[in-house]
Amino acid sequence: MADSIALEKLSKRDKKHLWHPLTQHKTAALPKGIVKAKGALLWDEEGEAYIDGIASWYSTVYGHCNEHIVSAMTAQMKQLDFVMFSGFTHEPAVRVSEELMKILPNNQAKIFFNDNGSTAVEAAIKMTLQYYYNQGEKRDTIIAFEDGFHGDTFGAMSASGLSVYNGPFEDFLLKVIRIPTPNEENLDAILTQLQTIVTENRCAAFVFEPIVQGAAGMKFHSAKGLDAIIKKCKEVGILCVADEIMTGFGKTGKNFASDYLVNKPDIMCLSKALTAGMFPLSITSCSQKVFDAFYSEELTKGFFHAHTFSAHPLGCAAVLAGLELLGSDGILERRKYIAEQHQQFVLKLGNHPKVKEARSMGVILAIDVRTEMDRYGKLRDRLYTYFMDHGVNLRPLGNTIYALPPYVIEDAQLQQIYDSIEGAIEIV
Ligand SMILES: *Cc1c(COP(=O)(O)O)cnc(C)c1O
Repeated sequence: MADSIALEKLSKRDKKHLWHPLTQHKTAALPKGIVKAKGALLWDEEGEAYIDGIASWYSTVYGHCNEHIVSAMTAQMKQLDFVMFSGFTHEPAVRVSEELMKILPNNQAKIFFNDNGSTAVEAAIKMTLQYYYNQGEKRDTIIAFEDGFHGDTFGAMSASGLSVYNGPFEDFLLKVIRIPTPNEENLDAILTQLQTIVTENRCAAFVFEPIVQGAAGMKFHSAKGLDAIIKKCKEVGILCVADEIMTGFGKTGKNFASDYLVNKPDIMCLSKALTAGMFPLSITSCSQKVFDAFYSEELTKGFFHAHTFSAHPLGCAAVLAGLELLGSDGILERRKYIAEQHQQFVLKLGNHPKVKEARSMGVILAIDVRTEMDRYGKLRDRLYTYFMDHGVNLRPLGNTIYALPPYVIEDAQLQQIYDSIEGAIEIV
């Protein structure tokens, strides 16, 4: 009955002409039509509410339709809607650069705007290649972690190690050499492997998700190990690119995952929570050293890369309003509360027979269930449906159930996420 009503609505109209991302349309269930959102909640066209347990792909951390951000964007829209960012500049972009410098690792000096996560990584990779080219050196190889995810454009996809996305394109990618993520046991072996890699190849960049690999299933690795790898790369002049598109803006407990590192990245990629999910925008920041390699009397040594909507004023207004919230007492207190609740839930599930591992860091919670399942297989679909039936938007990745709630989630809503996870584990 519910289905036949839905068929006359958005889902049916959607089916006619729309092609969704990450979807096999022949077998996928119809998408839910969402008509409204507020705080941690989404409402579908039947009037059902769902807790957005992953902040719509880790973006809407201050809650949907956050009034502070909406009003900042509305004011901006009336003042200056858009202007191209070549030959022009504007107050929101200048202020974003000033405000970000206050919280980015202090070796970061320049802000380059892009329009989404993949293009932030794309620009970062091009920067590293041209950095050497400008100095008369050809470096053609990128080092990246196994199972990393950096986006779906060609450069970003090349650095990504999740073959479920890359299969058909493998023959067309940049040259990338993969190393395992570091843990307590394997660091020495990785450093030895790295020594061989850098001796036998002309490596330009090491691209990594710092400490937490999101799409891989919220997998954590050792900060100490990552620090040692970055140190080694820097010794041989390889530029280190931290993809903080998922980890940035408070999710790991600090503003950036790189804040846990002694050796800071040369380049950082920011998106997703950058604009609180309110606007597609991204940033590739870099150190003075990187910028200086492009600074020249010669025109062609400049970075000739642009996206039409670079530094879009509406996106910049969202960034600025979001930054005001990020460090506010109210949000800090919520982030701390969520982190503590996650820790308790991890302890509670630690000995559950169906749980292989439970872990958390900041507002990121992940539970590996003790079973094999395909990334987009039947069990995964059953779990997804279970969560939606229980009013929670959680999207398991492989055998990992994870939550990354908006900072503004209410206590009872957070508890509902935990309850649904406990229930879901029982149907595995
Ligand atoms: C989402 C994501 C990207 C890609 O960003 P898009 O805006 O989806 O292109 C890149 N890297 C990481 C770590 C991400 O989580």
